[in-house]
Amino acid sequence: MILEHKIRDQIRNRADYMCEFCGVSETDSGGELTVDHFKPRSKGGDDHPDNLIYGCIRCNQFKLDYWPENDRDQMLWNPRSESSDRHFLLLDDGILYPLTAMGSFTLKRLRLNRPPLIATRLRRLRAIEHRRLLKQYQSLLGLLEQTLLRQKELIQEQQKLLKKQHELLKLLADEQ
Ligand SMILES: [Zn+2]
Repeated sequence: MILEHKIRDQIRNRADYMCEFCGVSETDSGGELTVDHFKPRSKGGDDHPDNLIYGCIRCNQFKLDYWPENDRDQMLWNPRSESSDRHFLLLDDGILYPLTAMGSFTLKRLRLNRPPLIATRLRRLRAIEHRRLLKQYQSLLGLLEQTLLRQKELIQEQQKLLKKQHELLKLLADEQ
């Protein structure tokens, strides 16, 4: 779709430069993603920013112009109105699990457990774990540094006491 450059940039920025359905970033995919209508124009959707989704080509291909035709048809999860953790649960294996019927339908329709997506999620989870371990390591280093400082102070105090003891012994020896 043809969009004013400014609006397109707003949509990209609003989505944090990632596909709002699957989370793939422009950096992951090596280029800009696409702007699509959540409710397709063919089904009466308009160009209002609330109806515009920033998405990757794959998600758009799987979504196509899906829109429920009747009450029995499931609605797709709308990333504009609800956060993903209401409908999906991400576990350590990088796989998304559905929490609701809407989540289940969206997962299937958009193939949100595509192998490259699982790989991307695992990479991100590992990066988070690395950052957490690094933070823990840094705080342990800080503690070790404090302990060494305290040890140094104690040694200095001990040296002062030994010096005093030595002076006292010398005095006593001189008196005798
Ligand atoms: Zn996507």
